[in-house]
Amino acid sequence: AYTGPTADEILKKRKEFLSPSMFYFYSKPMQYLFDENGRRYLDAFGGIATVCCGHCHPDVVKAIVNQSNSLQHSTILYLNHSIADFAEALASKLPGDLKVVFFTNSGTEANELAMMMARLYTGCNDIISLRNAYHGNAAASMGATAQSNWKFNVVQSGVHHAINPDPYRGLFGSDGEKYAKDVEDLIQFGTSGHVAAFMSEAIQGVGGIVELASGYLPVVYNTIKKVGGLCIADEVQSGFARTGSHFWGFESHGVVPDIVTMAKVGIGNGIPLGAVVTTPKIAEVLTRRSYFNTFGGNPVCTAAGLAVLKVIERENLQENAHAVGSYLKERLNALKAKHEIIGDVRGRGLMLGVELVTDRQLKTPAKVEILQVMEQMKELGVLIGKGGFYGNVFRITPPLCFSKEDADFLVDVMDYAIAKL
Ligand code: PMP
Repeated sequence: AYTGPTADEILKKRKEFLSPSMFYFYSKPMQYLFDENGRRYLDAFGGIATVCCGHCHPDVVKAIVNQSNSLQHSTILYLNHSIADFAEALASKLPGDLKVVFFTNSGTEANELAMMMARLYTGCNDIISLRNAYHGNAAASMGATAQSNWKFNVVQSGVHHAINPDPYRGLFGSDGEKYAKDVEDLIQFGTSGHVAAFMSEAIQGVGGIVELASGYLPVVYNTIKKVGGLCIADEVQSGFARTGSHFWGFESHGVVPDIVTMAKVGIGNGIPLGAVVTTPKIAEVLTRRSYFNTFGGNPVCTAAGLAVLKVIERENLQENAHAVGSYLKERLNALKAKHEIIGDVRGRGLMLGVELVTDRQLKTPAKVEILQVMEQMKELGVLIGKGGFYGNVFRITPPLCFSKEDADFLVDVMDYAIAKL
């Protein structure tokens, strides 16, 4: 039974001692998805795709405790096997020459480093990212982020935002090659003709689970390679088996990036950990100066990371994400046929989106209705994410151990909540 402070006590402290910009989705905080009264909630959001093997997975907890008992320290100065073991295991999951790992503490740091390496390697400054993307909140990564909701007044040096290949709301429907032409135009008319990098998610997470139109990435990757740039895949949300069919999101597009960034997606099941993986040739650029990250890849976090990889494999979580995700998507599509307010169902594996609109033709975002449905779903015991530029897309990114029964419960509850509107 829960014996900690009450929800009101926690809220009072948050108001007094934490940044006023910190938000929470629900009016009552949860402890391991049990509220302070011991009521259980089904977590269909996984802390924004951060928890992949399930909350408090005993193997991950054990790895953290064991490593804490033997050594927790900065990453630099002393030899420790934890970082080397995890780097080896992680590199083994990536294709081609992607074999050199740099650890960070977050996705933002990983993308900052990736962009800097691309700039150093190519000698160019220009970077192309996609409109509606989220890549982080430090100077360079906020520049690459392309949603006004998440942008403060940073100097956005050398970033160009290409038309988003969004099959639902985009200008060219699901014709990936037409969108790809915009990247070529940006290079021709907005740069010297050379760029440092193109960076994108395989499925936009914060942007509202937007799958890039099929055929887009292969054409863009070719264009970028032709002008000497590097391709960066931001796998912060779509990596680590979440999309089911593949371990990495980019794989379903049939491309191989030059740099891959990763973080919360369960790389550490909720532990602060991020990584940049690239080729030995590109990694060389960091030997030009001294480079380190004090806690990036520290023993406890990397021990957790290794435990997570083993759990994903032993418990066949990728297969589960594929099977349960496909089933869930089918059921959500059936729900779309029933409720006019569901404008679109999309995504892969256990990274699914349900977009609510008040008018299917005009695609008017159902911003108010989604809040009502979300609150009603919480009342019925299901926690779900929300996002997209207009805040009208349900984001379903649960722990990868989500079962078919969980999927049924989620859809039944959503069905009931929408019917009550
Ligand atoms: N990239 C993507 C695709 C993300 O979704 C996020 C976080 N929402 C980030 C980067 C930044 O990660 P972090 O919050 O760990 O800095």
